[in-house]
Parts: sequence; C-alpha cells; structure tokens
Amino acid sequence: MKTLNDFDFKDKKALIRVDFNVPLNEKFEVTDATRIVSAKPTLVKIMEDGGSCILMSHLGRPKGVQDEFSLKHIVSKVEDVLGVEVKFVSDCVGPNAEEAAKNLKPGEILLLENLRFHNEEEAGDTDFAKKLSVLGDVYVNDAFGTAHRAHASTTIVADFFPKKKCFGYLLAQEIESIEKVMQTGEKPVLAVLGGAKVSSKITIIENILDKVDHLIIGGGMTFTFVKAQGGSVGDSICEDDKMELALSILKQAKQKNVQIHLPVDVVAADAFSNDANTKVMDVYHITEGWQGLDAGPKSLENFKSVVLQSKTILWNGPLGVFEMERFANGTIELGNFIAESTKNGAFSLVGGGDSVAAVKEFGFEDKVSYVSTGGGAMLESLEGKTLPGIAAILN
Ligand code: AMP
Repeated sequence: MKTLNDFDFKDKKALIRVDFNVPLNEKFEVTDATRIVSAKPTLVKIMEDGGSCILMSHLGRPKGVQDEFSLKHIVSKVEDVLGVEVKFVSDCVGPNAEEAAKNLKPGEILLLENLRFHNEEEAGDTDFAKKLSVLGDVYVNDAFGTAHRAHASTTIVADFFPKKKCFGYLLAQEIESIEKVMQTGEKPVLAVLGGAKVSSKITIIENILDKVDHLIIGGGMTFTFVKAQGGSVGDSICEDDKMELALSILKQAKQKNVQIHLPVDVVAADAFSNDANTKVMDVYHITEGWQGLDAGPKSLENFKSVVLQSKTILWNGPLGVFEMERFANGTIELGNFIAESTKNGAFSLVGGGDSVAAVKEFGFEDKVSYVSTGGGAMLESLEGKTLPGIAAILN
C-alpha cells in the first residue's frame, strides 16, 4: 500500500483530495472542523518535506455554481486549524486554477473551489479529471468519506498519475483499521451490529460471518430474528419478509462456527416515545401493544462477557433508540464495555452512520481504537466491496 511515506515531496506540488464537506451554520461558519483536523497530518508531512498542497474537495450538493456552497466560506477555518495562510481560487479547473497552482511555492497551500460546481465531477468525467491532474505532480487521496464514489477527483484522476499516487495518512488509517477487523485481527473477533433494519445490513452480516467468531445482533434487527424463531414481538419493528433470511443467517452462522448473540430481554414501551410507560420483558414474549426499544439488563450482562473476551471488535449500529434518553442505556453500556475491552488491549473500530454519532454524543471517541470518518464508505467496506477510490491508488 503506497502512502505518503513512500514519497519525498520536496519542491513537489501535491494534488490532494480531502473531505472538507463540513457543516456550516446560517452565517456560513464551520460548526464542526473534525474533517479538517483529520486531514492535518497529511498536509503537515507534505509541507515539512518542502512541498506545497493543492486541496480539492466538495461541499454539500450544489446544483451548478451556488455561492452558499462555496469553499471560500471555510478558508479561515482551514487557516486556524493549519496555522498557515491558505490561498483560494474561485474555480477548481481552468486558467485561474492553473495559474494559482503554478505560482504556489514550497510550504504554501491552495484551496480549490467546490469540485461539484462542475457536473463532470460526480459523472467521473475523464476530461475534467485530466484538467484537475495538470495542477499537481503527485496525487494524494485522503478522503475516505467519498472513496466509495467513482468521481473524477476521487478515482478517475488517479489514472493520470500512474507512478505518482498514494494514500494520505487518514485514508491509510481507515484501510488499516478495516483490515484489522476483516483480515488480520487477533482472535476472538467480534462484530456488534445494531440499528433499525435487517434489510439494510444483510450484505454486511453475510460478509462478516466469514470473518468473525462472535456476532452480537441488537437494535431493531433483533425482532425479525426473534419472530422468525417463533417469538412474540408485539409492536416492535419487524420485517416479516426478512424472517426466512434471518433463519438462513442463523443456519449459516452455525455452519461457520460463528456464535450469534441476540438480546434475551428488552426495555419495552407502550409507545414510540420518551414519555412512554416502560417495562423489561423477555424478548420472546413481548405484550401486544408494546415494542422493544432497548436492550434489557440480562442481555447487557451477556454482551458484556462477550465484549470483554474479544480481542478485535467492530461496532456498527446502536442497540436501541439512543436518540431518546430513556432508550439510550443499552448503547451507552455497550460503549462502556467496548471502552473497557479496548483498555485491556483489544482493537476496536466504530464505523458507519449512527454508531459514530452515538460514540461522539456519549463521549467514547477517545476510548475506542478508531472511529471511522466515512459512513457509506465504511458500510461498503464491511460489505466486502473494493472501493473505487482505494482501487484507483492500488492499481
Ligand atoms: P442504522 O442506521 O441502521 O444503524 O439504524 C439506526 C437507527 O436504528 C437509530 O435511529 C435507532 O433509533 C434505530 N433503532 C435502534 N434500535 C431500535 C429499536 N429497537 N426499534 C426501532 N428503532 C431502533
């Protein structure tokens, strides 16, 4: 895997795909600079080598050129984070961009305007990619969040740098973390899959059965598995058309020697509301009119022992409706178990959508080994797909 460390950037212009798709408030101020901070190590290495950085990113989903989606709004935040002046050019290709890139001196940084002001970006247009490519000497991809898209700046542009392309530190770290779980992790390997629906996680579950020793299935998915095995799930979320599939997953797991752990009890509520009446119920006997919205105490005890004996842990998806305080306990407790296991030496990766939000909200970010920066890209990696942005560097 080619990374930044394989290159000396002295007097080189690095054309870097970063993910600066950051949230802005109504005054166009950056409200969360995590993605900019995450790119810093890559930019620092290139500047310390004596190179310069040309940064490409998208912001939002503009329709053509729209001022509200201009990357000019984030320039001062990028300057704050990096501690150096950042030049900005109001297009990402064409004469102005080329002039600005040409004039860039070692140690300087240039931010190009929003790539998605050109439809050719998302279309993966080769001519557009070529126009981007003339700006730099080496192509660096450090944007995991868009690595699952075959866009011009994430994938196609790499073809113009056959021997001069590499992963930035952030993307390399994402790839290594996924490999640790899917290929090289110390056993026992555990995946915790939660969230709302079986249908959105099928491919992940099927792919992961070949990689793990234990699989905890929680959240709303629980009830499809429970009903398929003859349980009464009351009004809990349940996909009747996926019950066959649930049984087949259980069978496959047995054949593959994977231990599946489902909740044995749940915190049930008489309404989908934080003000509902609640009761702990056996997961196989949920009363009509009630729905399971969080993992119960016995389940959490079981999950704790599995998490604490695991050496490699992947967590995707909450164990309950964590957005409501009354049903957040299972997700918080799971975070505590994973934090404890990590402290004892396990490697833990949290990735994909809502579990990342939960980990941040409940303060576990620094207590797990790695929190992925890409939602869709992470999910596709867990499904076993090779992401086009990654393949383009490896080829
Ligand atoms: P996902 O995006 O598939 O990871 O699903 C995340 C969503 O699943 C969150 O919004 C949770 O509120 C929801 N969820 C978790 N457990 C349950 C449950 N028992 N019933 C309904 N929704 C749930």
